[in-house]
Amino acid sequence: MLKNNHDLYEEAKQYIPGGVNSPVRAFQAVGCDPIFIRKAQGAHLFAEDGRHYIDYIASWGPMLLGHGAHIINEAIEAHIKDGISYGLPSWIEVEVAKRIVEAYPGVDEVRMVNSGTEATMSAIRLARGYTRKDKIIKFEGCYHGHSDGLLVSSGSGALTFGVPTSPGVPEDVVKNTLVATYNDLDSVKALIDANPDAIAGLIVEPVCGNMGVVSPEPGFLEGLRELCTKHSIVLIFDEVITGFRISYEGAAGYYGIVPDLACFGKIIGAGFPVGAYGGKKEIMACVSPSGPVYQAGTLSGNPLAMQAGKVMLDYLKHNPAVYDLIEEKGAYLQAHFQKILDANRLPFTLVRNHSLMTLFFMDSVPHDFKEVQRCDTKKYAKYFKGMLERGILLAPSQFEAMFISSALTKNDMDVTIQAFKEVMEEFR
Ligand code: PLP
Repeated sequence: MLKNNHDLYEEAKQYIPGGVNSPVRAFQAVGCDPIFIRKAQGAHLFAEDGRHYIDYIASWGPMLLGHGAHIINEAIEAHIKDGISYGLPSWIEVEVAKRIVEAYPGVDEVRMVNSGTEATMSAIRLARGYTRKDKIIKFEGCYHGHSDGLLVSSGSGALTFGVPTSPGVPEDVVKNTLVATYNDLDSVKALIDANPDAIAGLIVEPVCGNMGVVSPEPGFLEGLRELCTKHSIVLIFDEVITGFRISYEGAAGYYGIVPDLACFGKIIGAGFPVGAYGGKKEIMACVSPSGPVYQAGTLSGNPLAMQAGKVMLDYLKHNPAVYDLIEEKGAYLQAHFQKILDANRLPFTLVRNHSLMTLFFMDSVPHDFKEVQRCDTKKYAKYFKGMLERGILLAPSQFEAMFISSALTKNDMDVTIQAFKEVMEEFR
């Protein structure tokens, strides 16, 4: 039986705060009711109300191969009969760890956790434990999950909702989080100079996806590497979005910069709740039980999730052409979108970094959070709604990326381009 989204939302709100289990799903930033999904296949989402959408959210990243990839389904079906969770080590955890270590530059050991939030939170604790210093640097507009110390000047959902610092985050915690400007090395130097020998770690999205797509300027990541080495600061790449996406070796491999620690999530779990953090042996040796920095998890390294993750990583490793295929799809969409923007003389800016793309409702490429804030979010909401009416599901916020999956067919993309043309004509 078909169910109306609005009625489902009203009922959901009786039982779940705001009716959703993660704020961005409420579609508040674009002024729509959320869509309740019944099932997903390939690049398509099927809603409870009978409508279907071409999906550019892709579960916010994990579904690089689209939904219901048979290799993942088969792995899950084959192993579910062996038990769902043991609470004891299983070999499959080692298999996944091996794959991450072999793929990612500078990762000698890796610890599995259950989300990107846990990964970044644990990496920060480890940087502090290792250096015996307290302060960290993050960048305005970068989002690293919702742990207290990182929920400061965050992008994504937090930016959308205008609560960069949430109530409930103690001032005492936040005083140790220093905020720099993305793509601005001088802002980092100034913080280091003002806090000599006090900074444990610096965390950065090597390609920012959480203020919309903002790419690192040439020299930015190199400069961070140099500063961190010079001042004995642990450089942490948050590759929760970019890991195994920008390339099989992550953004680190693509840009040729090796961090001290890296955080993963999304793709490595193929849609299961998985995160991981890893890095140099010397630093990872501090993690409990090898060392004193405590971190644990009842469901960490869950065998079923690990089976899915292993199959995903193996597929990406042995089919490098999938990255070329996704790149081609991204380039195809970008070229057609740009042609339509030009034909309509619209001063909006399309930014793409591999399979991540954002249409910024502003007239130039943004480099940092302040520039991104110049976007006209009302126009984004109109764009979102226009596309949604035509069956295209984009991120429900200006400050998120469009995720391009390998499952998009030529027809899916042509339908998307036609919708884009119609919607952009309304902006003339
Ligand atoms: N880091 C980055 C770059 C992210 O984009 C996200 C979530 O979108 C996280 C960390 C937090 O991951 P999770 O939502 O799995 O806790």
